[in-house]
Amino acid sequence: MLENNFQKIVIANWKMELGVEESRKLALKMVKKFKDFSSKEVVICPDFLSLYQCSDILKDSNLKLGSQDSAWEDKGAYTGEVSPRGLKEVNCEYVILGHSERRQYLGEDYNLINLKLKKVLEKKELTPIVCLGETKEDRNKKRVKKILEKQVSHLLEKVSLKTGQKIIFAYEPIWAIGTGEVIRNQDLEEVYKIIVQLIKKIKGEKFWEKCLFVYGGSVNGKNIQEISRLKGINGCLIGGAGLKTAEFYKIARIILDS
Ligand code: PEP
Repeated sequence: MLENNFQKIVIANWKMELGVEESRKLALKMVKKFKDFSSKEVVICPDFLSLYQCSDILKDSNLKLGSQDSAWEDKGAYTGEVSPRGLKEVNCEYVILGHSERRQYLGEDYNLINLKLKKVLEKKELTPIVCLGETKEDRNKKRVKKILEKQVSHLLEKVSLKTGQKIIFAYEPIWAIGTGEVIRNQDLEEVYKIIVQLIKKIKGEKFWEKCLFVYGGSVNGKNIQEISRLKGINGCLIGGAGLKTAEFYKIARIILDS
């Protein structure tokens, strides 16, 4: 019962913080550090340029590979884009979609993210991690529920899941990303309830059972204990702390053992 709803996962988003050589070195360090982590879901998402070599390093390790984005089409004249089929070829298992930095700097909207999500789901072996969350202004003006409703309903338009597929919803309040400010557990709990209710309402109970809920936004080795107490949380999407081997390991241990 509720198979996915009990799974735990930790995802590191390396953004554009590292060069190719730095990514190679960090991947090697991570593989070594996580050698006692068999059958746990720990994912690292390097930049596109580093995926190929990281795929080689992660082969036969306890870490999974993810990408930070993917295109809305699988092939064609889309200069600069990277296809889900290419991601699969380099052994990616996860794909982050709609990160707030892409929404903010590149103007990605939920119509595009919905297209990307559907394209990724055409590949059975790729699991999408879709990002949502409000700005500080939205929160101050008590618009969180409204914003999440809009984001989730756009995201899930005409989306269906085949047997064995899942979607990971990454709730990342924009004001908490890279700022050191973390959401209070009671607010996170409220958002969790809103998102679960919404998904159930739009897609039904069975669909929700195929989904996971993770939190992202200034998670670190100090605040993770508190965050991991939230009932229902499946894990975290981590930026800054995902670049520090020892801290990322500590976070992963706390989440995956909770
Ligand atoms: C992120 O970019 O998804 C993120 C959560 O970053 P940070 O952990 O650095 O806030």
